[in-house]
Amino acid sequence: MLGELAAKGFSIIPDPAKADIIIVNTCSFIESAVDESVDEILELAELKKTGRCKRFIVTGCLPERFREELAASLTEVDAFLGTGAYHKIAEVLTRPSEKGLCLLPPPAALPLQTHDTRRIPSTTAMAYLKVTEGCNRHCTYCMIPGLRGTLRSRTIKDIEAEARHLISSGFKELVVIGQDTGCYGQDLAPNVRPNVSLPRLLEKISEISTDIWIRFLYGSPDTTDKRLIRTVADHENICSYFDIPIQHASSRILKRMGRHYDENYLLHLFDNIRKIIPEAALRTTIMVGFPGETDNDFEQMLNLIKTIKFDHLGAFIYSDSEGLPSHRLSGHIPTNIAQERLHVLMSAQSKISAEKNQNHIGHIYPVLVEEQMEPGLFTGRSSFQAPEVDGIIYIDSKDAVVGKFADIRITDALEYDLRGETV
Ligand code: SF4
Repeated sequence: MLGELAAKGFSIIPDPAKADIIIVNTCSFIESAVDESVDEILELAELKKTGRCKRFIVTGCLPERFREELAASLTEVDAFLGTGAYHKIAEVLTRPSEKGLCLLPPPAALPLQTHDTRRIPSTTAMAYLKVTEGCNRHCTYCMIPGLRGTLRSRTIKDIEAEARHLISSGFKELVVIGQDTGCYGQDLAPNVRPNVSLPRLLEKISEISTDIWIRFLYGSPDTTDKRLIRTVADHENICSYFDIPIQHASSRILKRMGRHYDENYLLHLFDNIRKIIPEAALRTTIMVGFPGETDNDFEQMLNLIKTIKFDHLGAFIYSDSEGLPSHRLSGHIPTNIAQERLHVLMSAQSKISAEKNQNHIGHIYPVLVEEQMEPGLFTGRSSFQAPEVDGIIYIDSKDAVVGKFADIRITDALEYDLRGETV
């Protein structure tokens, strides 16, 4: 959207109070995201009364999910664009305002991003590289396929061209993403598919430059096969980092979730990764309070977490919605029990993280410097820390340069973050 708008002559400014047009891009995957989106909309809509704002636009998953009913309840908003209409943003803003306009074409109507789609990355040293849109799976708790459509993959050639452009623009880390990144290429025609897969894509990006990091997020247990693990192991510029959301460990709950693996498969998978790449960083996501989750199911999951000892773990409480297949399952868990389980899980993980962080003290790692906080103090990340979701490293340094790699000796460990100095 930023690229489209800049191409049509709009200036992008960070302060909404000084903007003529405010655009709020929303998430609505879970109830807390819906609440956050609505709060942000209501707060910023005040600027229509007190600031310069003449037009107020809401885009993304919130209008996609709640359709025209949103226009009836959020009357401050001038136009709503769903996930199939991002490319229409400049067109909507260059024609006269139609109060309550709702553009909600099917998500598949959104043209796939290509290397010549104008982009304005909002990050500094790291850029996201989106390789697919949508998802073909049917996890019973997930509305993403409904909001973003079925899986559509870009071609390797096109992604490579975008990667080259980002690298030549100075980005040092490319983070390969999709809703289900491990399935990259599976939607392509059978004659094309054998040569198009996530390992193949990573290999091709890896050949572009040795002076970058490549990382992929949102893998899945069943697509993390030996070939993918070997590809990571064999390429120094691909971070030895595996983000594999498992959601649960109990076979009964996994089956109800529509996820096709079990605890033994998971134990074998993570063991295999560590056998091939002993220093690999493992990240996962867990859901607590899924309908039917008993104390035993929860204990089983907790034990798995304690056995595998993930380097990073995100957890959230099951979020119900009438349209989801999981809504019709029996045994919905009271909120207070789900919250208690989340607390127990995160307390266990915080001990594991703190222990793992202690082990980094004294080691020297290449770190991508991302921000200067004050004179002599920077922040950055090592290859075992993904942007936004994992911890960071506070760097004491006189000469670190934002956007460059630096060798950092770790001097202290906090619960999730680290502290270090340039060597
Ligand atoms: S694989 Fe991920 S995006 Fe796809 S349906 Fe399952 S949870 Fe949703």
